[in-house]
Amino acid sequence: MKSSHTPLAFFDLDRTLVAENTGRLWVEHERREGTISSLQAARAMLWLGLYHLSLIDLDRAYSQALAHYRGVSDSALRARTEVWFLEQVAHRLQPGARAALDWHRAQGHRCVMLTNSSPYQAAVATRTWGLDGWVSNHFVANSAGLLTGEIERPICYGAGKTTRAERWAAEHGGSVAESWFYTDSLSDLPMLEVVARPRIVQPDPRLRRVAARRGWPILDWRSADGAVAICDR
Ligand SMILES: [Mg+2]
Repeated sequence: MKSSHTPLAFFDLDRTLVAENTGRLWVEHERREGTISSLQAARAMLWLGLYHLSLIDLDRAYSQALAHYRGVSDSALRARTEVWFLEQVAHRLQPGARAALDWHRAQGHRCVMLTNSSPYQAAVATRTWGLDGWVSNHFVANSAGLLTGEIERPICYGAGKTTRAERWAAEHGGSVAESWFYTDSLSDLPMLEVVARPRIVQPDPRLRRVAARRGWPILDWRSADGAVAICDR
């Protein structure tokens, strides 16, 4: 049994554990299934592009996207996400991500997903890839189990990721300040700045510059080679 004193390693999902943005894969899936229109898909893709560049008011974008799911059953959306994840995403775990997860698990560390994606995806990904927990957004449902279109604040993005990770650690034990955090995006700078071991994975150009300046290790997880050596430093 792992105690509350076992070290924590946090992992971003999109463009870190997997090389793709899973939001984009989801939008494509929803478009194919006819759940959203071409226009809605195009708008969502634009948001995702701006999000990747950290140029977006994510709060507003998320609220608009979630409005589309107002009245949808929480459990139905969970089931639909699980089928999609197992078919379209599960096999995309990067080789270096697998090596890093295995290394942390072998040290007895707890691996926690820290993602701006949905709770449905975070939960199924955590089970599938053998992590110990997850921190994500939370969508509000009413007493009948239908989504209200609201999202719990703070959104699990930027400084909100740190707030939510701290909350998870307070509940499950462990220290964010002493943890590892693996991510690709400059939007995760607030969390990178509070952890003891920031680790940068296939970063966006702006984060690459920041990481080089601060001497943060930069990893390439497209192959398993070397992933562990850098985790360990
Ligand atoms: Mg990311």
